[in-house]
Amino acid sequence: MNTPVMPRPDLDLAARLFDTLYRNSFDGVGITRDTYGSGEQRAHDLIAATARELDLETAQDAALNLYVTLPGRDRDAPRAMTGSHLDSVPAGGNFDGAAGVIAGISVLAGWRRAGYVPSRDVVVMGVRAEESTWFPYSYLGSKAAFGKVARSILELKRSDTQRSLGEHLTECGGSPEQFGRAYLEPGRIARFIELHIEQGPVLVEAGIAIGIVTGIRGSFRYRDARAVGAYAHSGAVPRRNRRDAVRAAALLITALDEDWRRLEEGGRDLAITIGKLSTNPAQHAFSKVAGEIDICIDVRSLEARTLGEVDALLAQRVREIGAATNVSIVLGERSGSDPALMDATIQSEMGAAAKRRGIATRMMASGAGHDSAVFAQMGVPTGMIFVRNDFGSHNPDERMEMADFELGAVLLADMLSK
Ligand SMILES: [Zn+2]
Repeated sequence: MNTPVMPRPDLDLAARLFDTLYRNSFDGVGITRDTYGSGEQRAHDLIAATARELDLETAQDAALNLYVTLPGRDRDAPRAMTGSHLDSVPAGGNFDGAAGVIAGISVLAGWRRAGYVPSRDVVVMGVRAEESTWFPYSYLGSKAAFGKVARSILELKRSDTQRSLGEHLTECGGSPEQFGRAYLEPGRIARFIELHIEQGPVLVEAGIAIGIVTGIRGSFRYRDARAVGAYAHSGAVPRRNRRDAVRAAALLITALDEDWRRLEEGGRDLAITIGKLSTNPAQHAFSKVAGEIDICIDVRSLEARTLGEVDALLAQRVREIGAATNVSIVLGERSGSDPALMDATIQSEMGAAAKRRGIATRMMASGAGHDSAVFAQMGVPTGMIFVRNDFGSHNPDERMEMADFELGAVLLADMLSK
């Protein structure tokens, strides 16, 4: 098969945009682009202004997501979309999210300059509010674009300002009355391809620049689980009379670890984390049986059935261990998200396109969440390109190389021109 002659993405423009974004959002330590605040807004303004200079169409929806369009030959055909988020965690890095938007803009800029007209409209989306550290809500911007948010979330408070989403939206030029209205129709989107830096060490360790994402893990969490027994003297109370909360928690953790090992050996994708475990410092003591302990449980998998099975297993372990130790274990409120598989055809197209271009790739799951999960769950054929990045993300040390970014952008262009 011949490599299609495609105009190159405009990498000089991409480098300038990364530099300007960095200068606009450096906080003295890292990068802060606060959701529905001045940091995120400056990034949106920069991308919109760049799009207008390139004579591309720009639009916004009721949640102030940004859409930049290069018109195609058939304007009625379902559109090809790409994009990512423009917000960041506090003191984060410059590439998490922004790389996906800048990759899309650099592709459209290259095409525009070369006079290349795609067969259908190609749209780059600058997504709002992906980082749930600001508002406690997953995928706020992309869900709002599909009209999949309740208007009540306008009352959510931003973690730093304690002011509502409605107020922040208004400050950025939005109108709370319109919020929640659907802008995107799944049937009108031919595909969504998101380029994002890898946030783990897999590609760096493998010495491979590009990852093809197979799916995005879903999760369930019990943030406020609790075991309650009874405080007692550590010497005077025999084993059979104890209601030891620490022992119950330890047995539960050990049982879950064994379940994890067994399921993983059976080929399941699974990660179980007890990220917090605390006795009450006001009451615990060296010479006391602990009467209470707080436990925080985070379970992730690519497979909905594995999440369901582990949740059922967890309930069973809670009953067994609770009965055996005479401790009441209460899991409390459950939150989480559904796993999202990337489209199989897109994965194989991506692999073939990379091969034609001599780009080495690795297939991999995404442990972190991305807006692509929402597109996939809405039924849009969705794919993700990971770009190698050292030192992880959500910190100021992200280190994506522009040479790796270029490979990702070239692959993105191939996937958008289909
Ligand atoms: Zn991200």
